[in-house]
Amino acid sequence: MVNTKNSQPVLIEDVPVRDTMLPYGRQSLDETDIEAVIATLRSPFLTQGPRIKEFEDSVARYVGAKHAVAFSNGTAALHGACFAAEIGEGDEVITTSMTFAASANCVRYCGGEVVFADIESDTYNIDSEKIKVLISPRTKAIIPVDFTGQPVDLEEIMQLAKERNLIVIEDAAHSLGADYKGRKVGSIADMTMFSFHPVKHVTTGEGGVITTNSDELYQKLLLFRSHGITREKELLESQAEGDWYYEMQELGFNYRMTDIQAALGSSQLKKIDEFVARRREIAKQYSEAFAHTAAIITPYQKPDRNSSWHLYIIQLDLSKLTGSRKDIFDALRKQNIGVNVHYLPVHYHPYYKRLGYEKGIAPIAENLYEGIISLPLFPAMIDQDIQDVINAVNKVLTFYAK
Ligand SMILES: *Cc1c(COP(=O)(O)O)cnc(C)c1O
Repeated sequence: MVNTKNSQPVLIEDVPVRDTMLPYGRQSLDETDIEAVIATLRSPFLTQGPRIKEFEDSVARYVGAKHAVAFSNGTAALHGACFAAEIGEGDEVITTSMTFAASANCVRYCGGEVVFADIESDTYNIDSEKIKVLISPRTKAIIPVDFTGQPVDLEEIMQLAKERNLIVIEDAAHSLGADYKGRKVGSIADMTMFSFHPVKHVTTGEGGVITTNSDELYQKLLLFRSHGITREKELLESQAEGDWYYEMQELGFNYRMTDIQAALGSSQLKKIDEFVARRREIAKQYSEAFAHTAAIITPYQKPDRNSSWHLYIIQLDLSKLTGSRKDIFDALRKQNIGVNVHYLPVHYHPYYKRLGYEKGIAPIAENLYEGIISLPLFPAMIDQDIQDVINAVNKVLTFYAK
């Protein structure tokens, strides 16, 4: 391949490395998952039945937390966590801009103000030093995100929160199964959110959970998930008038997970160790394959934590390439590799721009965004899929090499 503008059609029109599009993420379901769902469909309860608590208990046990509260999706779970943290008008919450919009939106649902702290240039995670300087008398909480599956600096962030009396809501949508200094994510922050969207580690179709060690936060989360209503005798504000009596104590939502979803979740969770091991194996193969590729910066992992690898992101060194990130992205898609970009910085979205956030508030995240591409990564990938990705990346980068 001759590397000139005129030769571009050769690459675009050549035979792709594979015939079918390999998605960037996808669920792994087997017959036992399907049986679990069917059994629930035949059972008396489709919702508000026994499968919910079973699933919550298995999540809590797996991560080593005292409680888990399941929600209809991860975003609803984050909303519940912000409610439980009593975030409201006038409160500031610090999070990262290099995340899915839901990490920030949950603050807005409660009327709070989002403050974006910049990331570390090596891990792409929120920088605890930058959190420190952004804490004001109005700061109420921190929502760190374990970006791509690598836990944030939990010790530093929890210490900071303790000193300044803040609540930490860890967005662990990417990091189910990850560990930090020998402890599982989900047992450390005040509240931790996991998502069960099909691209995440285990799925319930749509679904999410908050884990916590606090009895008080647990009660608030339960209330919020179900209209703000309780029937528990010992929690009632008034005398129960009879067995029919229940009370709406807060303006909650209907954010319940169904038993059908929970049954799927319990079945899926039995395979979490297998899923995470496969994700780690795929990430290792990518990192080895691209270790000496000049135009690629592979993900950096801190030694005291172990990512569960929701995403594998390559950072392009555009100074070594003749094409743009878009050229390379498009060429990989033409090779039937379902690459993606995670994420457009949250403050670039029109909604946040209208609120007054400007380019320049998180220069490292903004700069990172310019060169990143997410490669396919999910447990059901076979070895040939991994090889296809590696071959396609090498082929495209060779074509665009300076
Ligand atoms: C997936 C995700 C969420 C939201 O989860 P849903 O279950 O899709 O609502 C929140 N934060 C991050 C970082 C995510 O990746």
